[in-house]
Amino acid sequence: MNEMLKVTDNSVEPWREIGSDWAEGLPAGWQGILKQLNTGLVILKRRDPEFQFEIGQLKEKFGALRIYYSFSHKTDDTKLKDLLSSLVDWAEWISAHTCNVCGEIATKQSRGGWVAPWCDKCWEENRSGENYTKLG
Ligand SMILES: [Zn+2]
Repeated sequence: MNEMLKVTDNSVEPWREIGSDWAEGLPAGWQGILKQLNTGLVILKRRDPEFQFEIGQLKEKFGALRIYYSFSHKTDDTKLKDLLSSLVDWAEWISAHTCNVCGEIATKQSRGGWVAPWCDKCWEENRSGENYTKLG
């Protein structure tokens, strides 16, 4: 079921499953987002068996997940493109509001250095006393 996420970066092998080492560079708190993204991709694959999805680059940027991808499909299903775009937009958006450590809803975003979303508990344990931006 995990075969829909494909990474073509030269530094990794293609078609690695979620949870394998290509995704380990991403914060642990975001791994659940990747699983949900994969679920959406599998559902799209059921809609169009010829659907192919490929991640060119997957990274964190300015406190949010960034997914650079390409795709192909054989059918004339224009809705599929809209659904895919919404799915990736969702993953990027929700990552900015998901604690990068534990996956809970984030309340703070660190400033300076590595910008990242944090929940109150993880913030206190890791960045207590530093300046932050409140996420609303
Ligand atoms: Zn947390």
